[in-house]
Amino acid sequence: FDTARFGQHILTNPLVAQGIVDKANLKPTDIVLEVGPGTGNLTVRILAACRKVVAVEMDPRMAAEVQKRVLGKPEQKKLEVMIGDFVKADLPYFDVCISNTPYQISSPLVFKLLSHRPIPRCAVLMFQREFALRLVASAGSKLWGRLAANVQLYARVEHIMKVGKGNFRPPPQVESSVVRIMPRDPPPPVKFEEFDGLNRVIFSRMNKTVRANFKAKGVAELIERNYKTWCAENGHMIEDGFDIREKIDTILLDSGYADNRAAKMDVDDLLKLLAAFNVEGIHFA
Ligand code: SAM
Repeated sequence: FDTARFGQHILTNPLVAQGIVDKANLKPTDIVLEVGPGTGNLTVRILAACRKVVAVEMDPRMAAEVQKRVLGKPEQKKLEVMIGDFVKADLPYFDVCISNTPYQISSPLVFKLLSHRPIPRCAVLMFQREFALRLVASAGSKLWGRLAANVQLYARVEHIMKVGKGNFRPPPQVESSVVRIMPRDPPPPVKFEEFDGLNRVIFSRMNKTVRANFKAKGVAELIERNYKTWCAENGHMIEDGFDIREKIDTILLDSGYADNRAAKMDVDDLLKLLAAFNVEGIHFA
């Protein structure tokens, strides 16, 4: 197998595989999406606990492997394999996602799951340790930042277990961790692009104040462009002598966040600050 190209590190420890499946709290009626089933070490355990598995696998040889594993068994009817790239795939309905996928697609995987509708009940996913810790970080901690804020807006995220390199064949270069993501349902009524746009500004330099990050090169220009579009669309006249920098400063001061450290802004603070800008017609996307 071309292990480098597809990031094929097979999970060989049965206790870890069972542990991952157990953490998904599957119901016998569940439809489970598995991303990158490989040879099926997780798949057979998932099949034992649910109604149906839809497995998306990019490597046709692996797809054949996992299908061979259930051939002639009752589970065969419960397994559907889609051959293709998960990132580009049109996903069917699923209740829960379980995956041990290559770490190159960690970020697209998380955001694709969070934007899926109807909202899945939970996802249990294997990641590189560092990425996992960045996902579960809380405001003010060392790994807190744009990734954690964007994900935690939409979901509760927990670190479930550490998984050492020795549990895979061939062993990967890095340590791994399993994370459980429980999407908030209903999701908060905030546009992702808008929240992320604010986070790009706030978290550009973690140790600076909110005000300093708004003064960074290009930020005022971007906000002004968005503001002019908003004014045009809403029939709002721009006053003479209008200065976007002054407007930003006033909003920041009135919001009470101007002198806060970026590193300490939690999801709630970010939402309040975003709302303060939005009521003034200022948008980040
Ligand atoms: N889940 C299996 C296990 O735990 O033993 C295999 C894990 S291996 C790290 C990752 C699997 O994902 C491989 O089978 C690989 O071919 C597949 N894969 C890689 N990139 C993918 C993608 N973009 N979409 C779907 N499958 C992918």
